[in-house]
Amino acid sequence: MRDGTVWDGATAFAALDPAPDRADGAVAVRLIASVVLIRDAASALVDALAAAGVPAIDVADELVRSEARARGWTGPLRAPLRAPLTAPLGPTSPVDVAAAVDALMPGATVARRGFGRSALSVRAMTDDGLRLRVKVPDRPDVVPELMAAGLETAFAIRRRFGRMASGVRGITIDDGAGGMDDHRTLGSAQSQTGTFFLDTSLACADSIDAQRRRMAGRRGVSAATPKPWFPIDGVVAHEYWHNLDTTVVASPAVYLELNRALGAELGVETYEHALRGREPNAPPVWQQALARIVTEVSPYATTNWRESTAELFKLWWCPPPDGVPSPLVRCFGAVLDRFYPAPE
Ligand SMILES: [Zn+2]
Repeated sequence: MRDGTVWDGATAFAALDPAPDRADGAVAVRLIASVVLIRDAASALVDALAAAGVPAIDVADELVRSEARARGWTGPLRAPLRAPLTAPLGPTSPVDVAAAVDALMPGATVARRGFGRSALSVRAMTDDGLRLRVKVPDRPDVVPELMAAGLETAFAIRRRFGRMASGVRGITIDDGAGGMDDHRTLGSAQSQTGTFFLDTSLACADSIDAQRRRMAGRRGVSAATPKPWFPIDGVVAHEYWHNLDTTVVASPAVYLELNRALGAELGVETYEHALRGREPNAPPVWQQALARIVTEVSPYATTNWRESTAELFKLWWCPPPDGVPSPLVRCFGAVLDRFYPAPE
């Protein structure tokens, strides 16, 4: 590490931005965008930070956080991590996943539920009585903080939308998110069973590593969630919307108002028109509206109404911490707030 930058040979892979005004002395770790941060590099980065005596780090990267926690760095879910008093080189002994998830979720009890041969089953119950079960492969690379984040996001959506959100009972994390094994689908929802499926690349370090190597720095088609949110938060929100949207589509007033308001924001009659912007002979205003969906939401949000609103919901639920979401996302959120006000 030199000049506030962490190097791997001749390659800079992270810049440190000290914030002298911060009480915890946390240094923001800014990853250099062109570097594909695989697990080995994340691990070397944490060792370099410990060796340099950095007291705390403010970083959202899943692998850096997972490697840091494995070396005894501590802190609440999604918050800065504080260095241990004596930093071990290399990860310490494997953790009890259920206990580690429980420790990261104040206001909830998380416990292992029985013993499966290849899967770890966990039950989470909040102090206000909400329950979810999570199934994850029983592997040593499961990242407790990512499981906790996914659970916390699911509980928060459940709390915000009340009974309309009560259809989700469980989350299963497996390779290929419920059989869609093309590594493009990070989640899938099956509303009949009350379960949604998430790919292991959202919660297991080796799969995150493999996914990053495969993507090699390319962006996915789906919207990326801003710091401090993890990709799993965004996919949980997206999949949860597929449960909520059955109510929305069955409520003509809400459906029509979403269609009208999003269309008005984009300067077209309805959102459906914007989504048809790629059709041959689509008027220029439809095409321009479609282009705004790509930039303000994601390429995947141009697929169809259902996927588009799921992507809007993801970005509305996971806003940037110090900014506001894009105008289209704000418009979407305003309609939801109007028809489904937050509980007191
Ligand atoms: Zn979807």
